[in-house]
Amino acid sequence: MAFPIKVCVVCEEEFELRPGKPGFANRCPECSSEDASEDSAGQTGWSDDREANAERRKAIRDLLYRKDS
Ligand SMILES: [Zn+2]
Repeated sequence: MAFPIKVCVVCEEEFELRPGKPGFANRCPECSSEDASEDSAGQTGWSDDREANAERRKAIRDLLYRKDS
């Protein structure tokens, strides 16, 4: 029996949405466990990553605004 194929919103990988899959329905098992487990959050430096992403987004937005005006 085939399960529906979903695209993970975090890593954009396709995964099978199995009944009873832990975590979010729109995240692959890897990304679900990353978020669900506090241990792995510490190991991967998840908050640092998120901060870096925010910085990058801000820099890009600044560039776009500068180009506009
Ligand atoms: Zn994923």
